[in-house]
Amino acid sequence: IHDLELYQIGKVYDNGTPAVIDFNLTVDKGEFIAFLGPSGCGKTTTLRMIAGFESISSGNLMVRGERINDIGPAQRPTSMIFQNYALFPHMTVRNNIGYGLDVKRMEKAQRNAKVDRILEKLGLEDVADKRCDKLSGGQRQRIALARGLVVEPDILLLDEPLGALDANLRKTIQSELKLLQRELGVTFVFVTHAQSEALALSDRIVVMNQGRIEQISPPHQLYTRP
Ligand code: ADP
Ligand code: ADP
Repeated sequence: IHDLELYQIGKVYDNGTPAVIDFNLTVDKGEFIAFLGPSGCGKTTTLRMIAGFESISSGNLMVRGERINDIGPAQRPTSMIFQNYALFPHMTVRNNIGYGLDVKRMEKAQRNAKVDRILEKLGLEDVADKRCDKLSGGQRQRIALARGLVVEPDILLLDEPLGALDANLRKTIQSELKLLQRELGVTFVFVTHAQSEALALSDRIVVMNQGRIEQISPPHQLYTRP
């Protein structure tokens, strides 16, 4: 089975805005997919529909072979990393990362073991007991990534996760992200308006414009207008 299947997906917001039109895409396990396009072209809306956060106006969206509407929130194999990270500023790094496991009422020892493992993987051991609002942008980005990964999703959805970082740090974290994705074999769907980022990271790029797909291609075949 495919990780994601989107057939003729459309989204019209209540105010009449057609945000996504005729979106067709199949994604297989372990792929790194980028949604690339200018602000307002429908990238985030599509990602939110895949996450189950936004209703679908038309078409059929399957996640690992099941219709998205038939999967309860706790059963969804997706995890999302938000643009602004959405961390709890007053909570420690450890508790931010463990939050999703607490919501699932995971037993404490198992929860702590999972949190420790991901802290180590992302090099956050030294700041584990610090409050999130005391940390740098790069550290917050890693915490957000850790929080998304600790629940062991099949599919990680990332909404412009590097947008708040300066250019140097963005390059560093890009490389880390790519290595991590390869190591874990998790499917990544990554939203960006930066072509260089899509080129550096993804196996396939979905180019969007005004709600529609303009092309889907691997980075080396990306057609760009002069
Ligand atoms: P992005 O960075 O993805 O372009 P925006 O800054 O455009 O996001 O939008 C931020 C938030 O405002 C999102 O939650 C989006 O759903 C909402 N939003 C965007 N456009 C509109 C609109 N025309 N009417 C209502 N809400 C909107
Ligand atoms: P992108 O992520 O590519 O910036 P979005 O998916 O955020 O694009 O937005 C696509 C279109 O839908 C835009 O025209 C935006 O203004 C509109 N939009 C986004 N969120 C909402 C919303 N909650 N209500 C109404 N319109 C929205």
